[in-house]
Amino acid sequence: MTLAHGRDHLAIPGPSVIPSRVLGAMHQPAPNIYGGALIEMTESIYRDLAMLAGSRHEPVIYIGNGHAAWEASLVNVLSRGDRLLGLVTGRFGYGWAKMAEQLGAQCDYLDFGTRTGVDAGQLEATLRADRTRSIKVITTVLSDTASGVRNDIPAIRAAIDAAAHPALLMVDAICSFACEPFDMDGAGVDVMVTGCQKGLMTPPGLAFVFPGDRAIEARASADLVTPYWDWSPRREYTMFPERFCGTPPTHHLFGLREALDMLLEEGISTVWRRHRTLAEAVWAAIECWGAADASHIASHVTDKTVRSHAVTTVMTAPGDAPRIREWCEQEAGVTLGIGFAVDDTTKDAIFRIGHMGHLNPPMLLGTLASIEAALVSLGISHGRGAVDAAASVIARYQVSVSR
Ligand SMILES: *Cc1c(COP(=O)(O)O)cnc(C)c1O
Repeated sequence: MTLAHGRDHLAIPGPSVIPSRVLGAMHQPAPNIYGGALIEMTESIYRDLAMLAGSRHEPVIYIGNGHAAWEASLVNVLSRGDRLLGLVTGRFGYGWAKMAEQLGAQCDYLDFGTRTGVDAGQLEATLRADRTRSIKVITTVLSDTASGVRNDIPAIRAAIDAAAHPALLMVDAICSFACEPFDMDGAGVDVMVTGCQKGLMTPPGLAFVFPGDRAIEARASADLVTPYWDWSPRREYTMFPERFCGTPPTHHLFGLREALDMLLEEGISTVWRRHRTLAEAVWAAIECWGAADASHIASHVTDKTVRSHAVTTVMTAPGDAPRIREWCEQEAGVTLGIGFAVDDTTKDAIFRIGHMGHLNPPMLLGTLASIEAALVSLGISHGRGAVDAAASVIARYQVSVSR
């Protein structure tokens, strides 16, 4: 017998919950792609995305997922044999740099593990040691969705500047965009990549690459670029479909326009604050569960200042994580994220809670209460008061904003 008869809730770190408004906006006939309303609407999407990213330049939009954004960004700035330094704080940070290696770049990795952010001092020392200034690109992730680590991008920029190194700084904000603070130009980021299926609440299918001035310059000499991924004709188009190297993703654009309206109505700084508050509610719950014995349940990232506001990685005793996920899905209708290979030994001792995008207190508190029910039902030792603690975080937010 299961109680999971109601609206299912997807609490994985992407794709995120799609709002009814977004689904509704997509439910319409195919539009003309050579003239008319679609073109104006799409122009407004480019403008709003640039504004939300804090970018002077409009993004380039590809039909694709996050990996497509990774590849698009790399091939437009790199040539075969160029050196890239990958800053690794989890699986995604590694994956992006590894992709560059597969494309023919020469990659070095600075691996900081999966529980702390990039060490700016170590980065600075590495860059100072590169006397010939041969490193062309540095890749990093704002929030690594596998580990739950959130990096301090301005501190990384400061380290590059302190070493007076000319490398381009490229940032993956795929799970962070529209969830946690990010200011591309303000932080001196040369390329930012993201996708539509996380904070932007739209079905997977749109990849965004935001090039800065220096990246646009680098494009001129990049020899890895291929016609579909080339951002130049998409930026300097004459006919609208050239922006997409063919048919535009019409219905995704309808959905995204609605999602952007929702974000703008709420206000981006309020969106960021909501995510922060919901993240803190999750952390408060985990702290209570692990209070008695953290070997049974604990946050994977101990330092709160380097925790993502979009996803939380939770450690359990070996084997418990899959049991908790299965119980929640079957008995309560809430799907939690798998332990995405933070490393192979901890795979079955990790689950993730996605708390990004279209999310409010009942959705989140329901998830936390369901996890608690799983812990009780499965006989997993845990401290009490977790849902209370999470509710108190939410109550404090209401008080702090009404004052
Ligand atoms: C989701 C995600 C990706 C991968 O995106 P896909 O759409 O699955 O290709 C890469 N980096 C980060 C930080 C992500 O959150």
